[in-house]
Amino acid sequence: MIHGSCCCGAVKFELSAEPSMMGTCHCTRCRKVGASAIVFVRKEDLKWIQGRDHVQLFEPVSPYKYGRCFCKICGTALGEILSEADSFPIAANALDSELSVRNQFHEFVAEKPSWYEICDDAKQFDRHPVTA
Ligand SMILES: [Zn+2]
Ligand SMILES: [Zn+2]
Repeated sequence: MIHGSCCCGAVKFELSAEPSMMGTCHCTRCRKVGASAIVFVRKEDLKWIQGRDHVQLFEPVSPYKYGRCFCKICGTALGEILSEADSFPIAANALDSELSVRNQFHEFVAEKPSWYEICDDAKQFDRHPVTA
């Protein structure tokens, strides 16, 4: 069982399975909300313990398609945790348990600030990873 929570503890959830993938997004939006490392979870693996109503959705504004969630009290980034999709990314920073998954790609490298140096061998994509 993987445990997840926000900084103030109001939001708590569990994942019954390890996230399938981890990536790092360097887009300007993820940078601002403080959620660069993302992990992909399946909706069926996500179980709410408490505080779902403390989660605020920041609605996407065109051309962006994906919302961003955060704790209303402490501001902890939670990724797309309220998504209705079968699989969606949440912010890795919200997880408390150890993970065996490691960063597999960097996306939106074109928007990366020069002060952030990529120090791993994960694949880099200028924008969204090319889906095969
Ligand atoms: Zn909180
Ligand atoms: Zn991003």
